[in-house]
Amino acid sequence: MVIWPFAPPSPFSWQQQLTAAFYSFATSPIVTVLVGAKRKVYSFHKDLLVKRCPFFEKCLKDSYKEGRENQVYLAEESPAVFDRFATFIYHNRIDEIVTFPDNSLAVRAFALADKFCMPRFQNALIDAIACFHKEHTVFVPDLDFINDHVLLNSKIKAFLIDQLIYDIVRSNDIDQTDLTGKEVSRIIRGGGDLATEIFWAVGNIARRNDWPSHWRNRCNYHNHETDDKRECYRKREGAEDSD
Ligand SMILES: [Zn+2]
Repeated sequence: MVIWPFAPPSPFSWQQQLTAAFYSFATSPIVTVLVGAKRKVYSFHKDLLVKRCPFFEKCLKDSYKEGRENQVYLAEESPAVFDRFATFIYHNRIDEIVTFPDNSLAVRAFALADKFCMPRFQNALIDAIACFHKEHTVFVPDLDFINDHVLLNSKIKAFLIDQLIYDIVRSNDIDQTDLTGKEVSRIIRGGGDLATEIFWAVGNIARRNDWPSHWRNRCNYHNHETDDKRECYRKREGAEDSD
């Protein structure tokens, strides 16, 4: 299954859409993006890349060396995470997440989307991550990563904390001796912002009866402030019968 960002699937196949995108940008210069310590090479049509990503729009201006040479080096990024970005730029979608390692990469892609100023990418990632967590508990190291790499009010952080609390409440298996229980205890003992946020999420649970990963509630974790103002709840409800 493919998680489409808000709109129902196009009547055209992805191959047709890719072909159309290719010809509409066929006259565009090509940008080379080198990613990670081993400099994995990605090639993008410049017109498409700057249209869909404000970060590259800025750094590929003609007044910058990167813009004149059409080459950008992202030493700190991981190719496995950047692959998700490349897929979204060309296919405008997030593939279904089926494993914990895939989900961890999607969580890291959310932090990348934050850095690249791409709310639509973030919203699509939240939907895919929420789908995964309908059947799977939160992997606490993902929450640790997010706590270290996004702002305090980030939507992904709010989602993972809410989902973690619901995992604990709804499961008879999570206690202080299992892995999730031990990890949560570690965070609480360590103190800091994350421990405080978990404390208040637990405190608020009595006033909530909604599951974070349920489709109806996902818009709470979207960012529609900038480039993504589309209604997503009603349009996608029918398209995701499994929710
Ligand atoms: Zn929404």
